[in-house]
Amino acid sequence: MRKKRVVIPKSATINCPHCSKKSRVNLSEDTFLGILECKKCKQKIETPPAHCCVVCAFSAKRCPQSLVLEAKMKGLDIIREEEQF
Ligand SMILES: [Zn+2]
Ligand SMILES: [Zn+2]
Repeated sequence: MRKKRVVIPKSATINCPHCSKKSRVNLSEDTFLGILECKKCKQKIETPPAHCCVVCAFSAKRCPQSLVLEAKMKGLDIIREEEQF
């Protein structure tokens, strides 16, 4: 049986909770987005309580940090997502 792998996304699309603008952010294993400014409405997008970060809270993806942590806890292999659009 093949080992399960965790795919680290290269980018995520954040949905602004104020104006619904979608903005793409690049992710790396040391990016941590606790707070982000919306390019359209200029309001701050803050991590809601009980969420890990802006990426986990407002995009369809999870941030690299939480994925890496999970992979380490479960002993899974970590692979980086290939660039795809
Ligand atoms: Zn906005
Ligand atoms: Zn996160």
